[in-house]
Amino acid sequence: MTAPLPLVIGNWKMNMLTAQACEMARSLVDRLSTVDGIEVVIAPPFTSLHPVAQIIKNSRLSLAAQNFYFENNGAYTGEVSLEMLRDVGCDFALVGHSERRGSFGESDDAVNKKVRRAVQMGVTAVVCVGETLGQRKSGATSNIIETQLSKSLAGLSGEDISKLVIAYEPVWAVGTGVHATAAQVVDVHKLIRMILRERLSFPEKAAARILYGGSVGPENSKQLLREKQIDGVLVGAASLDFESFCAIINSALES
Ligand code: PEP
Repeated sequence: MTAPLPLVIGNWKMNMLTAQACEMARSLVDRLSTVDGIEVVIAPPFTSLHPVAQIIKNSRLSLAAQNFYFENNGAYTGEVSLEMLRDVGCDFALVGHSERRGSFGESDDAVNKKVRRAVQMGVTAVVCVGETLGQRKSGATSNIIETQLSKSLAGLSGEDISKLVIAYEPVWAVGTGVHATAAQVVDVHKLIRMILRERLSFPEKAAARILYGGSVGPENSKQLLREKQIDGVLVGAASLDFESFCAIINSALES
């Protein structure tokens, strides 16, 4: 089996007005025009998805939604469906980001509904899992990861799993400036692979790509991406800065 290309996803969160988002997208298209052997995805806010999609069309960049509602349409004021997001060009969607779980009460059950919808729509779900600092300190990391995975991935087949991306994002590292060490990440990535295979009984070839996210920047990306267990990174703050994001992309290219 050939190794998947390294995957770098930039999560712009609730940042950038349309003009800034378009400028960033243009710069990235330009910088990536001569680059091969990597997959780069950007997740702008909803308001910029459409114009950014026009800019990155036929480029090496793909588009992700940061969130969506699991129903396709109907009386859900304020929500956006994955069908609508795919319609504007999203091939990826983040699901269960810790900021959504923590600030908007997104449950594992809702995450599962979203993942199933993404599978049905042919959109790559990037399923985020991770423990809090208290959970890590009390030795509960593996239990938390196993619970999140088993609930979030309930009802999926091995084939479905092979199309997913799982992002290990320890809550204590997201947006804090404190990143997990490469050794900590490798341990949890191995754990995730073991859980998928042995606890959830997905066949070995049903290998989802597994990313790390949590304060990834130019200064730590090389060390993280050097690890065979780490298939890529999900980047928040550093993806808002063009040179920092490009430096992370370069680390992935060298890995
Ligand atoms: C994220 O938004 O998924 C993230 C990891 O953020 P940051 O890189 O800022 O920690």
